[in-house]
Amino acid sequence: MSRYWSKVVHELSPYVPGEQPKLDNLVKLNTNENPYGPSPEVIRAIEAELGDGLRLYPDPSSSRLRQTVADYYGLQAEQVFVGNGSDEVLAHLFNALFQHQASILFPDITYSFYPVYCALYGIEYRCVPLADDFSLQVKDYVQANGGIIFPNPNAPTGCLLPLADIEWLLQHNADSVVVVDEAYIDFGGESAVTLIDRYPNLLVTQTLSKSRSLAGLRVGLAFGHVDLIEGLIRVKDSFNSYPMDRLAAAGAVAAFEDKDYFEASRDKVIASREQLSRELSQLGFDMPPSAANFVFARHSQHGAAQLATALRQHGVIVRHFHQPRIDQYLRITIGTPEQNKALLTALQQIF
Ligand code: PMP
Repeated sequence: MSRYWSKVVHELSPYVPGEQPKLDNLVKLNTNENPYGPSPEVIRAIEAELGDGLRLYPDPSSSRLRQTVADYYGLQAEQVFVGNGSDEVLAHLFNALFQHQASILFPDITYSFYPVYCALYGIEYRCVPLADDFSLQVKDYVQANGGIIFPNPNAPTGCLLPLADIEWLLQHNADSVVVVDEAYIDFGGESAVTLIDRYPNLLVTQTLSKSRSLAGLRVGLAFGHVDLIEGLIRVKDSFNSYPMDRLAAAGAVAAFEDKDYFEASRDKVIASREQLSRELSQLGFDMPPSAANFVFARHSQHGAAQLATALRQHGVIVRHFHQPRIDQYLRITIGTPEQNKALLTALQQIF
């Protein structure tokens, strides 16, 4: 606390990310990173970028990366925005597209960064409750609003909203921007990117942090109508002209070019998710079907907070949220088969 702080700083309650432990020997299943490393092509591309060229600023419009991603999805480069992680992309879109008179809408159980951006930019919001099974009911979003945002699949539940529901939502909210945060889409859903040409009010965000194993590189994306992208660029160029450094841009291009590696590691994570879900059920957990690289599991006899603490004592860290409706759930990132086995063994010892 300082008397030099501006009013907005006094009123912030910043986002608290999951722990990044200093100890190497922990089984880290708490922040939804990919258990496999990035493509070797990514490492080669970054190494090739190391040299005298680093004295020069990067391309402020990240043209090569935007073109690569546009080609991958069959879009124009002008329909693509890139930023320093999708958290930065989200921050810019809250600023650029959500600062209106009406409140924005998002689910009561969702990515906990959204209310933080609202506080930062002075945006009012209303939370729309998910159904008892954690499904998002699009009809609940037919009400006056200044914008809508939700992750698909949702975080931390892993529940997927079908593309047809997203299209219905877009049709019933033509006057506001609908943002679909697809941080986890590659693990089990169909991207709404295919709807962009038909819905000028749709913005889709993605990240290279999860399915492309590059959380440490900090690359996020947004896709939408050129006017929405121009709004984001105007905010970016009023904030930091060079969010994408030379190493990040080179690595991100290589990640999109190595499709085979991406698909193979994604498939391994999906197979492990299905197996871990079965094994957790056998141990007395129930969980909604997950389309992400994590499961959201509740035990019939053991409290989630106590389980999280006990798991940590056994060297396994998972995420627990002290929050109404979900305080009996653990969000468990899918690890390698060995890591998942360590989790199951620890649980058996605890029980
Ligand atoms: N959206 C959702 C739903 C997330 O869970 C995360 C990861 N915490 C992000 C966005 C941000 O990811 P990143 O900044 O690493 O791209």
